[in-house]
Amino acid sequence: MGEFELIEQYFNLHREQTGVDIGIGDDCAVLSIPPNTQLAVSIDTLVEGTHFLSETAPEQLASRLIGAAASDLAAMGATPAWLTLSLCLPDADENWLAAFAQRLHEECRTLGLHLVGGDTTKGPLVLTAQVHGYVAQQQALTRHGAREGDYICVSGTLGDSRAGLAIQLNELDSHSIAPVDKDYLLNRFFRPTPRIALGQALVSKANACIDISDGLLADLTHILSASDLGAQLDLSQLPISSSLVASVSDVQTRQAWALSGGEDFELCFTLPKSMATPQFLNALPTPVTIIGEVCRELGIHTAQPLPDCFGFDHFKKDT
Ligand code: ADP
Ligand code: MG
Repeated sequence: MGEFELIEQYFNLHREQTGVDIGIGDDCAVLSIPPNTQLAVSIDTLVEGTHFLSETAPEQLASRLIGAAASDLAAMGATPAWLTLSLCLPDADENWLAAFAQRLHEECRTLGLHLVGGDTTKGPLVLTAQVHGYVAQQQALTRHGAREGDYICVSGTLGDSRAGLAIQLNELDSHSIAPVDKDYLLNRFFRPTPRIALGQALVSKANACIDISDGLLADLTHILSASDLGAQLDLSQLPISSSLVASVSDVQTRQAWALSGGEDFELCFTLPKSMATPQFLNALPTPVTIIGEVCRELGIHTAQPLPDCFGFDHFKKDT
């Protein structure tokens, strides 16, 4: 199967799409963004051996690739619009391609992304997704707007993806975990849910926002550094799923994973206290939890001792 046949069969869906003036098949895609909006663009790469094990299923790769890329759009409050896809493949394995493409198109449909172009080459397995979205002029959520006194909030639950990784690495005894919890945790690793609707709901409400890809402490630190402020966190408020509680009995490990496990792709944002009414919080499309407050003292402060099972040094302890 040649390169053009491959693109035609698996990636060119020939659909009419708003905003796509020229799609797959020419030298460039030509795109129109709605009036009074700005384009938000982000790119993510998965390299075999570095980001995933060689036995990873193509469906899981498609979901991780698109989920991680679209999560960056969510963090900016952007509306997903277009995807460009670079595939470096060792060979044209039709089973692999069919499974990968089917899941890719499925994820794109869910998110409102349209595949408008890409590049296909032969070599070691490397997958790159560039996502494009739009956001109202000057309204993009950024890392730098946090203010002293803002509540620090996170969406969903933290540490699940790390637990999903632990199951694969046999760090957890999977036989002692109920199938429903195991499925949930593995799914959180392999099929992240970008918080697109939440990001959009936070536009002009949150002062700063980031998606949690490297772990809460690392990503919150990006907000704090960009905003030149610190944080006081209440570790007892970290949102932990019932599946994680059921699978990991050690509280320290759960906290460590919630604080530093990567790839949960939840949003961490700061909200003026005046905005944080029950009406506003309860109407958000994803549950959010207030875990602390932005303060003037630089660093991350906690009343409780931090679990010591992770390598992170950008915080200070009060105790
Ligand atoms: P060029 O050589 O001009 O860069 P290509 O021959 O690489 O163009 O690609 C032909 C068309 O197919 C282009 O419109 C390109 O965007 C699209 N394309 C190539 N690879 C992919 C892919 N993996 N997914 C979607 N579109 C692709
Ligand atoms: Mg060309």
